[in-house]
Amino acid sequence: MIKERLQSIYKELPSDVTLVAVSKFHPVERLMEAYEAGQRIFAESRPQELAQKIPQMPADVQWHFIGHLQTNKLKLVLPYVTLVQSVDSLHLLETISAWAVANARVIDILLELHLGAEETKQGFTEEEIMTLCHSAHSSVRIRGLMGMATNTDDMAVVERDFMRIEALFNRIKAMGLDGFDTLSIGMSGDWPVAVKHGATMVRIGTDIFGPREY
Ligand SMILES: *Cc1c(COP(=O)(O)O)cnc(C)c1O
Repeated sequence: MIKERLQSIYKELPSDVTLVAVSKFHPVERLMEAYEAGQRIFAESRPQELAQKIPQMPADVQWHFIGHLQTNKLKLVLPYVTLVQSVDSLHLLETISAWAVANARVIDILLELHLGAEETKQGFTEEEIMTLCHSAHSSVRIRGLMGMATNTDDMAVVERDFMRIEALFNRIKAMGLDGFDTLSIGMSGDWPVAVKHGATMVRIGTDIFGPREY
């Protein structure tokens, strides 16, 4: 089932768009089914859950972090992930930078744009992102932007959200920021729209694994 769902996504997804399998709230046996179907990039949203799953999965899995990251949990996450997609505050960015310097690492991150209509959604404004992209952050590489569209069935609203983040992404890219190449937009339900609007990375959970289990 997972294998079939993955294969149909692989078939539809342009080859230059990276599929991130969002495995939060699914047991490791389900992740292994995806692994056996060829999936290698997985994303989790809770530090504890990530830390539990990593030793149970093959070593060639790449992990992304996509949830709200509290600064007292960095050491559970940063040593093990190849990308933190959900940097949503200056405090978090500065703390990641300090950790990276202290541990002689370079950490790849995406800045999260507050995109949807929901007030609760975390993230920066466009202006804040422009400012951050103009300043230096030791040992942190800003690889791109992440955003979640408004949670609605109205695809015109979703499309407007994606066009906004696409425009910001293209503006920053035109500045020639080193390594800035990733636009992470699109989840189950809206990823084909995201691909139409320049997604280089999609984050899909439910369409691969079914409803979350716990
Ligand atoms: C859970 C989550 C997803 C995946 O959502 P689905 O609707 O299950 O595809 C994508 N991005 C983020 C940031 C998430 O938290």
